[in-house]
Amino acid sequence: MKKKYRCFALFSGGLDSMLSVLHMKNLGYDVLPIFFKTPFFGSENAIKAAEEIGYNLIIHDITDKHIKMLQNPRYGYGKYMNPCIDCHGLMFREAAELMKEYKVDFFISGEVLGQRPMSQRKDALNSVGKLSNIKDLIVRPLSQKLLADTLPIREEWVDKEEMLDIQGRSRKRQMDMANDLGIKSFQTPAGGCLLTDESFSLRLKDLIEHNMLELNFIEFLKIGRHFRLNDDVKVIIGRKDKENEMISHLAKNELILKTDNIPGPLGVINSKRNPSKEEISLAASILLRYNNKAQNRAEVIFGKKFQLTNKVEVPKIDTDILMEMKI
Ligand code: SF4
Repeated sequence: MKKKYRCFALFSGGLDSMLSVLHMKNLGYDVLPIFFKTPFFGSENAIKAAEEIGYNLIIHDITDKHIKMLQNPRYGYGKYMNPCIDCHGLMFREAAELMKEYKVDFFISGEVLGQRPMSQRKDALNSVGKLSNIKDLIVRPLSQKLLADTLPIREEWVDKEEMLDIQGRSRKRQMDMANDLGIKSFQTPAGGCLLTDESFSLRLKDLIEHNMLELNFIEFLKIGRHFRLNDDVKVIIGRKDKENEMISHLAKNELILKTDNIPGPLGVINSKRNPSKEEISLAASILLRYNNKAQNRAEVIFGKKFQLTNKVEVPKIDTDILMEMKI
């Protein structure tokens, strides 16, 4: 009896990853979709997408390694702060480390030749392979007919004739396949990765430039208005109730600021050191600027979570000065 080969499928939750899983499943392979979680790409949508095609997703957190890679990706960034080649390389490398545990024979991904400007050119797919250390074990079912043979093809675990030859930016063939395979709902390509978002990327770049790329500071990038006071200190102001709740939730040792007895937004200071009195006053005057109910001068209370026991009276900051600090 022919051996049933098992493969990991790098699974983002996008349509291409769903199609590559189903294509291999229908050819009789044992496919294990795996998702690599980072602070920039949550797993919720991928879990739903896997469910849509009848799979439970394996979720593997690569946050620490991803943050390290992000500071200096070998192949640089895409349009924004997305280091897609290094990111894919890291995912394959991590998958390789789990290979024995899950008894997989090879790896697949939904990459389509020429679909994305940065990560899916032929040379980029080669670079991903090189970074991964398992270049010769990767099969890309949607485009493999157009790519160099890898070990699973040479050894005839995978029949090249059964692989596809999709390339380019048109989504027509994928849409037809989705239809044929009965996939009813799916995400837009690359949807969900914050590293492809322009304003998030600006804030992230600022963190990297100021040597503040730490997990908690990254989480704060997802909410609020951001202002840099100096090289060491920034302040974030909530824009709506949900963001104020998130500030309370995320703050650990950070100082929280709030107007005294006047409803309004919360602010939080991000810094690796204790902020000075002057820096706290400046942050307070920024906070006050975003409180419509407050007079031009008011008291702001501050302290660590649940201990806003300190007080400072400040004027609202001048708009011109404020705009210079906006990230
Ligand atoms: S879009 Fe984001 S998650 Fe996807 S490869 Fe690029 S950086 Fe990684």
